[in-house]
Amino acid sequence: KKIVIALDGYSSCGKSTTAKLVAAALGYAYIDTGAMYRAVTLYFLQHHISLTNPKEINEALKNIEVEFHYNPKTKRNEVFLNGLNVEDEIRKMYISNQVSEVSVVPEVRHAMVAQQQKMGKKRGVVMDGRDIGTAVFPDAEVKIFMTADVDTRAKRRQEELLEKKQLINLDEIRENLLKRDLIDSTRKESPLRQAEDAALLDTSHMTIDEQVDFVLERVTS
Ligand code: C5P
Repeated sequence: KKIVIALDGYSSCGKSTTAKLVAAALGYAYIDTGAMYRAVTLYFLQHHISLTNPKEINEALKNIEVEFHYNPKTKRNEVFLNGLNVEDEIRKMYISNQVSEVSVVPEVRHAMVAQQQKMGKKRGVVMDGRDIGTAVFPDAEVKIFMTADVDTRAKRRQEELLEKKQLINLDEIRENLLKRDLIDSTRKESPLRQAEDAALLDTSHMTIDEQVDFVLERVTS
């Protein structure tokens, strides 16, 4: 029986790395919900959408189509905004610096959550984000809440960005992670928090293989 696996938690705890490998092991689809909020943020910046104008926001949301397409070259799902591949653009620091403010907006959340529920309707998905186990799929069969100490997270994020040729200093990254965690966990609409029935996974001293096994054990048990 195909199930939904919800991976939530703080920024840069290894959610997407773990989710991708778990999805591959099970032959499931992987859906990176953070990428969807990042794509909306890119659109809002490009079109100078005011976050205090609900009419403008609703109008903009009607014109936004976020999709995932598999790229056989990179062997991963990549994010498209209105038909354009924005996979690289949305990972840049200027998007990370704005995305949590955009994700607070209730209209944005309603639109994204509805789309995520549609994408996972047939189940057989691993979804990572902040509110998957609490709001998107409260009935997910497996729920994991991931955390790690902030220095470990900042270092991992720095290495990731470096692979994409972005050299960002550790303090700036750490500040960004803490700022996003604060905004994400204090917003009114589906804040970041551990679902009551989610297993806590602290990845500070874990290898990627161990993280993947932790999740897979819960799928088979
Ligand atoms: O997962 P990632 O770090 O790319 O997510 C970027 C941002 O998108 C988060 O910091 C959060 O503000 C927002 N987000 C959200 N709900 C989700 C996934 C991401 O609010 N389900």
